[in-house]
Amino acid sequence: MVISSDEEEGYISEELVDECISDDDKGEEEKAKYPEFDEKAIFGDIQLQLNMLFPNLTVFKKAVTDYNIAIGRVFKFVKNDNERVRAKCRSEGCKWEIFCSWSNEVKTFKIKKFVEPHTCARGFKNKQANKKWLAAQLVDELRSYPTMSAHDAFEWFKRCRGIHVDDYQIYRAMKLARKIVEGSEKLQYQKLWDYCEELRRRNPNSTFGLKVHRPTLELPPTFDRLYICFNANVQGFKAGCRPLIGLDGCFLKGYYGGQLLSAVAQDSNQHFYVIAVAVVGQESRDTWSWFLTNLLGDIGQYSDNG
Ligand SMILES: [Zn+2]
Repeated sequence: MVISSDEEEGYISEELVDECISDDDKGEEEKAKYPEFDEKAIFGDIQLQLNMLFPNLTVFKKAVTDYNIAIGRVFKFVKNDNERVRAKCRSEGCKWEIFCSWSNEVKTFKIKKFVEPHTCARGFKNKQANKKWLAAQLVDELRSYPTMSAHDAFEWFKRCRGIHVDDYQIYRAMKLARKIVEGSEKLQYQKLWDYCEELRRRNPNSTFGLKVHRPTLELPPTFDRLYICFNANVQGFKAGCRPLIGLDGCFLKGYYGGQLLSAVAQDSNQHFYVIAVAVVGQESRDTWSWFLTNLLGDIGQYSDNG
């Protein structure tokens, strides 16, 4: 079935038609006539149709890629610039095609031609799923399960993406995904110093202690531990909680791991009330003693408060 909107008659006339019918004030009104692409659609449930609107071409290209990988087809972008993207099926004889470009009528990108369905056969191995695509799929999983193995990744692709990925592809994709996760978490650690400074500026009388390792001045500092105690929480504890503090330590998920130490009380509604937390490499006599010293410094000794 070939579906084509009136606007798709070559690039030049398409722009002319758009200009003739465009009206700046009606953009939003016109938009309501067409379906908008659902960016939250889960993999395997992506819907594409003629006149569908996209906020930009990056979202469109990702949608076309995910859509085809999900149905086991391989396509190529035959036109791909800032204003328009056209994709066609790679199989000879299959007429599947999709075209999306800027529309002056609705002031956004719109699918102006859609020829479907694919008449080619579904492939078992999907060549469209390249290293970059595979790695992007794994990033969130790796953040949640940093110990994910190559076998876990293979099973995950089979179960959640419906594709078989060779060992070598898995190996390369995992390597890239780990690099992405490690890199973004590393960047977050680099911002901790500024984050603490900002917390101090906005929360007078609170304590934010960041300790770093730096064996020699030539080496860049690396994270050791972080203590956070808001003065507002201390005041709340003193004013409305029973003078009993519970201590707990739990493991942190994530690439760099670590443990979270916390001091909690109970408020008058019998709910947990957090007084202070710390992030440390691991629980030990040293880290607990450091945490408690900081905590007592903030809430005061028992004898001071009665
Ligand atoms: Zn096809």
